[in-house]
Amino acid sequence: MSRTLEKNYKKIPRLFGTSGIRGEIGNEITSELALEVGKALATYLGGEGLVVVGYDTRTSNQMLNKALCSGLLECGCNVVELGMVPTPLVGFSASRLKADAGVMITASHNPAKDNGIKLWNPNGIAFSSDQERKIEALIHTKKFKMAAWDQIGSCETRDEIINQYIDEILEMVNIKPGLKIVVDCGSGAASYLSPLILRKAGCRVTTLNCQPDGFFPGREAEPNQENLEVLMKTVKKTRSHLGIAHDGDADRMVAVDEKGNFADFDKLLALISQVIGGKIITTVDASLIMDECLSAVGGEVIRTKVGDVHVAQSILQYDASFGGEPSGTWIHPDFCLCPDGILSALRVIELVSNKGDLSKQLDSIPNYPTIRKKIGCSKVDKEIIMDKVKSSLKDHFKDVVHLNDIDGMRISFEDGSWVLIRPSGTESYIRITLEARNQERAEEISKISTDFVQKYLSK
Ligand code: MG
Repeated sequence: MSRTLEKNYKKIPRLFGTSGIRGEIGNEITSELALEVGKALATYLGGEGLVVVGYDTRTSNQMLNKALCSGLLECGCNVVELGMVPTPLVGFSASRLKADAGVMITASHNPAKDNGIKLWNPNGIAFSSDQERKIEALIHTKKFKMAAWDQIGSCETRDEIINQYIDEILEMVNIKPGLKIVVDCGSGAASYLSPLILRKAGCRVTTLNCQPDGFFPGREAEPNQENLEVLMKTVKKTRSHLGIAHDGDADRMVAVDEKGNFADFDKLLALISQVIGGKIITTVDASLIMDECLSAVGGEVIRTKVGDVHVAQSILQYDASFGGEPSGTWIHPDFCLCPDGILSALRVIELVSNKGDLSKQLDSIPNYPTIRKKIGCSKVDKEIIMDKVKSSLKDHFKDVVHLNDIDGMRISFEDGSWVLIRPSGTESYIRITLEARNQERAEEISKISTDFVQKYLSK
C-alpha cells in the first residue's frame, strides 16, 4: 500500500486480514458487519452497478448473504445471487457477466465456527489492500451513499453462468477417458461441482465428503496431510490413478498419487509450471526446484509476495502464463485471474493422462533439505529485527548472488540455496525458511540466520 494512503487511514481499524475479512461468527463476524460491507462496497462503486455474490457451505452463509445483499441493494447496486458456489465461480461470473465486483462469503479452510467475506474485482483478482482500506474507511465513518426509494437495487439469479463455467473449463483440458479419480471436497463449496466436472471430463469418480455440510463432519476444511488419511487410503484401496482434495471454498487443490501418498506441494507446482512453461509467477517461499524445472525448459520464475492477490497482480504485470503458491493456490490466466482449485485438479489429471503415474513424475524431481523455524518475538521487535535483516544479514554470508525484499528478505546463494526471513502477518513470530543443496549447508545457513535474529531480540 502507498505510504500516504496508509498514513491517512492510520486511525481506521483493520477489518481485512491476509485473505479478506475472517473471524468467528458472533464475535468478529456478524450480520451487522455483512450489511455494512454491502453498503460500503455499493458506495465504493458509486451507488450503482452489478455485484455477484456467492457463499460456501457454512451454517452462517444464509445469514451473512442476506445481510450483505440488503446492504448492496440499499445503496443502489443490483445483485446476481450465485448461491452456494466455489470461490472461482465468483471470479469467473464477475468477469463473464461484466459485473462491477464480486463477493464470496467464506472462511476458506478455517474451522466451522468461522466465516468471512472476500471482495473481488471484475477481472477475477481479489481486492488490493488499497481497495480494502477504502472499504474499511467507509465502514468506520459510515458515510454510505443511500439510494432513493426509486433507485434501490434488485436481486436476480443467473443459473446459466454455472453451465457456462462447466463448458469453458472443460475446453481448457484434454484428458483421455477412464481415469479413476477419488475426489474429497471436505463437504465444502465444490461438493457438487468438482465431481460433476471431473465426470464430464471423462473420469471415473469416487466421491468422499461431497455432501455440502457446514459442520464439516468428514474432515476439517484444511486439505493437509493429517486431514486426508481417508482419501490416501481410498486411492490405494480402489486402485485409482489419483486423489484430489479441495479446501472449503475450492480455490485450492491438493493431490494424492496412485500409491496413496500426499503429493509434495513444491514438486507438484514445479511439475505443472514446467508443462506450462514461459514466465511463471510464484511466491518468495517457493522452492529452488521451481527455478531448476523452469530453466530446463527455457522458462523463467518470478517471485512475488505471498497471497493470491499478489500472484494475480504479478501475472498481469509480467504477462505471465501461470501463477502458483506452494499452498496449492494456482491461477490460470488463460481462464480467469481468480485462483481455481477445480481447473487445477483438471490440469493435474491431464498431467497423469499425458505422462502416466504421478508418483514417477514427482520422483523425477530432486529433494533438497528444507528447514522451517519460527522465533517468537513482539511486534516492536519484529520491526527492529526486519530492519537489521534487510540492512546487514547479507554481510554474514560469503556467496550472496541475489536479494529480494518484496516480502520479508530472501537471500539467494551461488549454489542455489536460499533463506527467507519473514515476519508472520498474523502471529508474534519471525519465520525462517531455507532450502540448501545438502544438509550440512542447510544447518550452516540456519545457524547464521537464527543467531542473527536472536541477537536483536529484546532481553
Ligand atoms: Mg480457500
